[in-house]
Amino acid sequence: MPVLHRPRRHARIVTARRRGTVYACPDDVRRCREQRPAGPVRTCVGCRTRAAASGLLRVVAVEGILVPDPRRRHPGRGAWLHPDLGCLRLAERRRAFPRALRSRVELDTAAVHAFLT
Ligand SMILES: [Zn+2]
Repeated sequence: MPVLHRPRRHARIVTARRRGTVYACPDDVRRCREQRPAGPVRTCVGCRTRAAASGLLRVVAVEGILVPDPRRRHPGRGAWLHPDLGCLRLAERRRAFPRALRSRVELDTAAVHAFLT
């Protein structure tokens, strides 16, 4: 059950700066947190749609090979992709991986293909 918050008549005016927004009181801060999507949001390099990072697969480049990183433990720059062959093919076609990962060489996507099938 959510806790009901009655506005206090003498509520202290508090300003909180978060992502450029100034809230008038703590209740406003709480309301805005509830409206924000849960967790970080990333853009799929295949279909370019924004989605919760938890629903996307992180991939990293290791010595010219694109490696799936489902546990997100690999250091360095990562690219985000829907765990979907269609998005993988789209990303390949637009050469999104070398661009997103700042790689000057073509990346071998076989390991990601294998991961998704
Ligand atoms: Zn996608």
